[in-house]
Amino acid sequence: MFEKRRPGAVLFDRDGTLIRDVPYNGDPDRVEPMPGAIEALGRLRRADVPVAVVTNQSGVAKGLLSADEMDQVNAKVEELLGPFDAWAICVHDDADGCTCRKPAPGLVIRAAAVLDVSPRDCVVVGDIGRDMEAARAAGARGILVPTQETLREEIRQASEVADDLIDVVDRVLSDTEGPVPAAAAPWARAMGWSRW
Ligand SMILES: [Mg+2]
Ligand SMILES: [Zn+2]
Repeated sequence: MFEKRRPGAVLFDRDGTLIRDVPYNGDPDRVEPMPGAIEALGRLRRADVPVAVVTNQSGVAKGLLSADEMDQVNAKVEELLGPFDAWAICVHDDADGCTCRKPAPGLVIRAAAVLDVSPRDCVVVGDIGRDMEAARAAGARGILVPTQETLREEIRQASEVADDLIDVVDRVLSDTEGPVPAAAAPWARAMGWSRW
């Protein structure tokens, strides 16, 4: 595999992937990053890979939390994990028949469109089968990071499984080795280095 490129974007599920899963949480004080999340996002941002969130929030449709509470939780996520280049959020429930609720591909397609990249150039990272199905349906690369809640069947069916978010970044960025664009390192050519 010599032709691999860095991804156009990495799209993260929120609950159970970026932050601990507190079902239908509307309380910003209960937001807690998952292990490795801060480091993983930092490495992607330093590599100039756009990062986004693609999240099902059916608690809004169920009336278990308000859109305002959800916004406050998302603001806390950015406070703890830094700014994301896009958020794609489905506030519907299964019965609504929308095209965005994972496992449908709508959130992945929407986030990719906002970031002006092809879904095929995106990596989707999540903790359950719905995330992987959405990735597959959108033509993206899906990487499952299982938690205690992840079903064995979901792990078995995933095309790619990572130990944690650090492992995800190792996988994603190890695909990007190649010449550094001259514009990114104008001194490199002057010093006679074509790559580093
Ligand atoms: Mg999740
Ligand atoms: Zn939806």
